[in-house]
Amino acid sequence: MTTKPMHPETIVLHEGFRNDDPTGAVAVPIFQTTSYQFDNTQHAENLFALKELGNIYTRIMNPTCDVLEKRIAALEGGVAGLALGSGQAASTFAVLNLCQAGDNFVSSTDLYGGTWNLFANTLKGLGVEVRFVDPSDPEAFRNATDERTRCYYAETLPNPKLNVFPIQEVADIGRELGVPLIVDNTAAPVICRPLDHGAAIVVYSTTKYIGGHGTSIGGIIVDGGNFDWENHGDRFPTLTQPDPSYHGAVWTEAVKPLGPIAFIIRARVILLRDIGAAMSPFNAFMFIQGMETLPLRIRAHCENGSKVARFLADHPKVSKVIYPGFQDGEARRRADTYMAGGYGALVGFELQDGSEAGRRFIDSLQMVYHVANIGDARTLAIHPASTTHSQLSPEDRLATGVSDGYVRLSVGIEHIDDIVADLSQALDAV
Ligand code: PLP
Repeated sequence: MTTKPMHPETIVLHEGFRNDDPTGAVAVPIFQTTSYQFDNTQHAENLFALKELGNIYTRIMNPTCDVLEKRIAALEGGVAGLALGSGQAASTFAVLNLCQAGDNFVSSTDLYGGTWNLFANTLKGLGVEVRFVDPSDPEAFRNATDERTRCYYAETLPNPKLNVFPIQEVADIGRELGVPLIVDNTAAPVICRPLDHGAAIVVYSTTKYIGGHGTSIGGIIVDGGNFDWENHGDRFPTLTQPDPSYHGAVWTEAVKPLGPIAFIIRARVILLRDIGAAMSPFNAFMFIQGMETLPLRIRAHCENGSKVARFLADHPKVSKVIYPGFQDGEARRRADTYMAGGYGALVGFELQDGSEAGRRFIDSLQMVYHVANIGDARTLAIHPASTTHSQLSPEDRLATGVSDGYVRLSVGIEHIDDIVADLSQALDAV
């Protein structure tokens, strides 16, 4: 294409692929191959030395994954992407690309339970210290920072608390101190572009809205290309010091001819090479299919989400509705600033009779699915206290915003009357 697609509706259909050569196929092919024939020994040597970019082995890159990476990077306004086997792999890689044993990073307390566990336990076991801070005060990020702090981490629309994160406020503090902000934008694709608000890196679980079909697990990292790693060289030895596992390459220097992609190249050729959490080409194909309707679906999700929130707010058995559009004060200002495209489709609510009522509600649903997932085209519900958040200590669970009576809905794109009818009959049964 000679014109560059600029709008989400166009990017998801056109970015990074026109048609296959020589078949002319318009659908992105599934390149189900492990390896790639080199032209000659010089070509192979150039690829391994990164003098030329090209396919070597599917653990590290694949042409189907490449199209997905280009589309999501373009959607986010970033410079490059890296597709991985799951959202968990994406957050792990994003942090470990900067942190080594003895380092620390500062994270919002408002996180998906699996990410909380990863940070509080698994990364701690590797010698990487997470410092959790309450994001309602952005200055808490500054106060927790020292010379071994390598990054900040947060979710745009934290699941299940649903308090929109102060992206620009924290990114600005980070840029002053030389600390990049990594944002998990899983719950707000298209609605929010964290890089526009100062974030340096975006991660996704593509398992959710990006796919929308609920068929495939995957994740992606997008490099904003907007952070000056060299300017704060001492903070980022993984990028600015010679890498002994890649013949002494200094990533910030080695990739200069290729653009501001030191972060994502290092994640690919070191972490993905060594840890191997690659996305399968088949799953990349599935995400490409799902993504073609992402902007349309997100509009429908947001519309249904706000109608469901209104229905619940008016229901006598519901004591509280948690939804960005219903907040006031500073939380509402953040929702309006960062979720300019809509308040999303995650709706939390609390039932007057607590945990038992929450369980009875879930057990009475007939159409809505009871699953541990969000972002499917179908409406989904879960009782986090007894499922996704049951492995957390009671204190940690409350810190993530999950009370005993909390029910989380991921509102789908079915007809709104059918969604409300099912919620209504399940509330009657409570
Ligand atoms: N980030 C968020 C916000 C999530 O909700 C999830 C999963 O629910 C993940 C990351 C992890 O993604 P995955 O299940 O693809 O590993």
